[in-house]
Amino acid sequence: MLLSTKPTSSNAFLSKEGFAEIPSKFFNLAKRPEVFEYMVNIRRVIHENPELGFEEFGTSKLIRNELDKLGIPYKYPIAVTDMDALAMQEAVEWEHKSKIPGKMHACGHDAHVAMLIGAAKILQEHQSDLEGTVVLVFQPAEEGGGGAKKMLDVGILENVEAIFGLHVSSSYPVGMVATRPGPIMAGSGLFDAVITGKGGHAAIPQNTLDPILAASNIIVSLQHLISREADPLDSQVVTVTKFQGGGAFNVIPNAVTIGGTFRAFSKESFIQLKQRIEEVITLQASVQRCNATVIFNINEKPFYPMTVNNVDLHRHFLEVARNMLGGKNIIEMQLIMGAEDFSFFAEAIPGYFYYIGMINETGHSPYFKVNEDILPYGAALHASLAVTYLLEYHSQLTTQKGSCHDEL
Ligand SMILES: [Zn+2]
Ligand SMILES: [Zn+2]
Repeated sequence: MLLSTKPTSSNAFLSKEGFAEIPSKFFNLAKRPEVFEYMVNIRRVIHENPELGFEEFGTSKLIRNELDKLGIPYKYPIAVTDMDALAMQEAVEWEHKSKIPGKMHACGHDAHVAMLIGAAKILQEHQSDLEGTVVLVFQPAEEGGGGAKKMLDVGILENVEAIFGLHVSSSYPVGMVATRPGPIMAGSGLFDAVITGKGGHAAIPQNTLDPILAASNIIVSLQHLISREADPLDSQVVTVTKFQGGGAFNVIPNAVTIGGTFRAFSKESFIQLKQRIEEVITLQASVQRCNATVIFNINEKPFYPMTVNNVDLHRHFLEVARNMLGGKNIIEMQLIMGAEDFSFFAEAIPGYFYYIGMINETGHSPYFKVNEDILPYGAALHASLAVTYLLEYHSQLTTQKGSCHDEL
């Protein structure tokens, strides 16, 4: 989505002289009842109609309708905010509960979409004061599908200088933000493994090759990769989350499927972990005379790189957040082993990811609830970061290049 440039007026709302006031100005704009209610309505419609990764057709249509109403051009099907829901049943009883059984916005992506449209609305009101172009990215399939990678592959970030992304966080109260410079989230991979033996009668095990026992030993051995092989000061995770096989009390099945995820904070550790997962599964299966095939389905579920926050953008973020929220409301957070596909964007160009507080049930819980008071914070931060970035960096860049580009 593009906001085109017009000449800056002399009494500009968003001028370099008034730089420090821009975040609070945007915050006041975002808190106005008409903008707040506008965002709340959008968020509730999306919440009632959750769609899973790469199926966000209705959500995308809603976004395009709103952009049309705001008079903002866009490219489609490219649609930074995530907009996918999770395959789980909502357990919160309220007026705008999910209408789709087994699907729920339990990570806050409905609120993320509303915030970015809210940001578009308040930016559009001051379109004539913008010193460049702001591109808003509505991306599909954050939850494991790597929608960001697909968007990157089709050139979404061409001519874009920097990118900001946010996520709601259940760890901090409304009004606080949490972030850190440099690495912030782990690299992440998913794996499946099929362990094949020879099924038979449970009471005559000598005639079988038991894949359940083999898989059990594999799972225990995988845990030793972290406790015995990894440097204790180099954070890594291997978690097996899937164990499927068998269906009777007295039958040893032919095969068992296990699956899970692995995380690391450096490329070397990640590659090493992947290789050892493969070795441990196949070799440990052979101890029980079974065969194993390990599948890293990276076409459907690409590995997510580490999310690394650009240090200059960190300084920029601190200045904006301090001006809007006050220094005491900015928390320097610990690294987390969670992963984000925003990392693909931040790997391609300078990127910055931060959390905005909203104490609640943790994400992915069926009891997850969005505190809608958070919406103006997200909208104002999005708008302020983009506009102040253009004022601070874009003019420098265009002077250096000696030509005038319009893109952020
Ligand atoms: Zn999530
Ligand atoms: Zn999420």
